[in-house]
Amino acid sequence: MVNYKELGLVNTKEMFAKAIKGGYAIPAFNFNNMEQLQAIIKAAVETKSPVILQVSKGARNYANQTLLRYMAEGAVEYAKELGCNHPEIVLHLDHGDSFELCKSCVDMGFSSVMIDGSHLPYEENVALTKKVVEYAHQYGVTVEGELGVLAGVEDEVCAEHHTYTNPEEVIDFATRTGCDSLAISIGTSHGAYKFKPEQCHVDPATGRLVPPPLAFEVLDAVMEKLPGFPIVLHGSSSVPQEEVETINKYGGKLEAAIGIPEEELRKAAKSAVCKINIDSDSRLAMTAAIREVFATKPAEFDPRKYLGPARDNMEKLYKHKIINVLGSDNKLAQLD
Ligand SMILES: [Zn+2]
Repeated sequence: MVNYKELGLVNTKEMFAKAIKGGYAIPAFNFNNMEQLQAIIKAAVETKSPVILQVSKGARNYANQTLLRYMAEGAVEYAKELGCNHPEIVLHLDHGDSFELCKSCVDMGFSSVMIDGSHLPYEENVALTKKVVEYAHQYGVTVEGELGVLAGVEDEVCAEHHTYTNPEEVIDFATRTGCDSLAISIGTSHGAYKFKPEQCHVDPATGRLVPPPLAFEVLDAVMEKLPGFPIVLHGSSSVPQEEVETINKYGGKLEAAIGIPEEELRKAAKSAVCKINIDSDSRLAMTAAIREVFATKPAEFDPRKYLGPARDNMEKLYKHKIINVLGSDNKLAQLD
């Protein structure tokens, strides 16, 4: 048993309380490899932002859960080496699907876990979430629950249609489970294809597709029921069209990839939404940079020569999100 505090990690408790008061959101970036992790840490250090490192089921299958945990431990030391004496880094399990998995993460040093019982009947979701909370809280590990179903595909999490969170259920759920934060469904969705073109309208100024707005009325109703309670948005990539265009220009084939407009996320970040999950955008940034090198320098075969530019492009994206969308820059408790 290793406690996250021994690894220099923090849980989400104070971080979220401050974010709600301050009207900003903490970035939750998924990672599966070293370049992505380096880019996340560099961006967080340079902008003096707290950050949540997320490990999904796909990441655990791809990179190994134990290795990812040691990489997160290394990330704390890396942040210090980059000049951040008091980094605030959370290691979070994304979409935990069983008590046993959440327990194994708590036991190996994760500082936060998500138990996703949103696909279960309501009472079963309550019972499972409560069981995870009771275990995790003994060790100071914070727990994210989920109510409502998000559409889209993220690793192994997949649903065809949204079911918006029912605001009537949130007080009961939060009180009975004791969870520290709640992921809700208001129209965001997983993956790079969040909307079908027929759901969108064309912006006459740019010619690009604009998706239907998020259900802010559901968010408002949730906030009214649970004032000051930390809310989480999953599936919140914006699918930057310049990255999609670069990918397609250099031989890729991404058709009608559409994300959540950044203005909507900016608006959400100012509310009780204090954690915003972003994964697809970093995948796009990485792929765009690699495709460009492959297409423009076909003789290149040193992986550092294409993974390096990929890392730089991801770092740029993370900084943009932190500064221009989430507003979490300069929010470390100790800035020195
Ligand atoms: Zn998710």
